[in-house]
Amino acid sequence: MIIKQCTKCDTKFYAIKVENFVKHFQKRKNSLDGFSNHCKKCTNEYKRKWQQDNGYKKKKKPLLKKDCVVCLKPFETRRESTTTCSTKCSNHRKKIYMRLERRNSNYNEKVKKKRQKEIQNSQRVRKHYSDFELDIIKKFMNTLPVTKIAKKINRTYFGTYYKVKELKELHSSKWGDDKIKNMR
Ligand SMILES: [Zn+2]
Ligand SMILES: [Zn+2]
Repeated sequence: MIIKQCTKCDTKFYAIKVENFVKHFQKRKNSLDGFSNHCKKCTNEYKRKWQQDNGYKKKKKPLLKKDCVVCLKPFETRRESTTTCSTKCSNHRKKIYMRLERRNSNYNEKVKKKRQKEIQNSQRVRKHYSDFELDIIKKFMNTLPVTKIAKKINRTYFGTYYKVKELKELHSSKWGDDKIKNMR
């Protein structure tokens, strides 16, 4: 553990490595550890004050006149990357883009690989469940959706999904046997 203290507000920051101070301090080449002595909060406040005192104002980017790609109507933006006039048009453009991408052969392979990885992860995870977690799953198995159960025990969706499936199958088979025995 290393401690670094801000020389202005005296708050202490802890880290395992020196490089992890990037979160709280700005980089500076001339200092010994490579970071400035004031924390980011203090430097930001100082900057804001300086800008207020000197009457500094942010320059607004100029308005650009463009034609929408989807509906072909003219519109104005300050961003150079926007190509559509509204959220409706942008959603439409995304749909078309997704359709075009699905036609590529690479896209399907990518999705397959992703799913395989997810399943592998779930299989690796589902072996080790504590009794506490199993009790919770058994309690809410038939009443709550799997996503909520997964949240309760801090597990991935796929892992809990397969566990619930297993338990349900076990439960149903046991229950079925008992019922048959009682019938006789
Ligand atoms: Zn500070
Ligand atoms: Zn449009």
